[in-house]
Amino acid sequence: MNWNTITEKVHAAERLTYEEGVWLFEQRDVIKIGKLAQVVRRRLHGDKVYFNKNRHINPTNVCALHCNFCSFARTSDNEAGAYTHMPNQIPDKVRAAVEAGVREFHIVGGLHPELGFEYYLDVLETLKREFPHIHLKAFTAVEIDFFAKLTNLSH
Ligand code: SF4
Repeated sequence: MNWNTITEKVHAAERLTYEEGVWLFEQRDVIKIGKLAQVVRRRLHGDKVYFNKNRHINPTNVCALHCNFCSFARTSDNEAGAYTHMPNQIPDKVRAAVEAGVREFHIVGGLHPELGFEYYLDVLETLKREFPHIHLKAFTAVEIDFFAKLTNLSH
């Protein structure tokens, strides 16, 4: 199995085998894979593209972790620049975006060391109650891991 064989099959619109798919999955050259995917995408859909119009919500920037690359997080509510929005404050902050036609809330933020899991549930419940038609896309893997440790629930 190699790039040449797979590239030829993609350009000839031939279906890849399961093994070829696994081989591609194990390759590190994602740009090369992306270029091949683009060949197929253009064949199927031409110049049409899909956009998701969403509104990012970062409920708090107070975080128990200190990732080296992060300039967003603050270590406590007392640090300069720290903020935490209470769940009932959030709908008014995003209402204008909903009226402008967003279809999704993308929720990600700090791992607040004191608010507890209920706070995060409350954020989701409040948004879903207020805007039931908006899709919720919430939390990264590190947040899910944090919640699991907070609650002793599985991931
Ligand atoms: S977990 Fe997220 S918010 Fe917290 S320090 Fe890391 S990147 Fe920043």
